[in-house]
Amino acid sequence: MLFDGFVIAFGLAIGSFLNVCIHRIPRGQSITRPRSSCPHCHHFIRPWENIPVFSYLFLRGKCSQCGERISWVYPTVEVMTGLTFYLLFLKYGFYTPVFVNMVFFWSASDSDFR
Ligand SMILES: [Zn+2]
Repeated sequence: MLFDGFVIAFGLAIGSFLNVCIHRIPRGQSITRPRSSCPHCHHFIRPWENIPVFSYLFLRGKCSQCGERISWVYPTVEVMTGLTFYLLFLKYGFYTPVFVNMVFFWSASDSDFR
């Protein structure tokens, strides 16, 4: 049960990272720098505002500084990745979801570019 929670949390974290990759790689931007920021007011996202899904719910889908809406796509990608990780883990073990999400990441980042 504890490991199930770890797999889901790991999937959510990978989903959060995928959001960064999906947004930045097609634009030729670094995935490490600069830190994530609000696209409206450019306020740097603090660590407590960057917890997958929970921060979105806590902030009620709005930037803590300017109050502009945060796209629902971010938590959706996180939840879908967490769920996919967990279902694949239940069916095939731990390493399969890692591989499948790498394939998803490449296809998603490519579709965002078009
Ligand atoms: Zn903002």
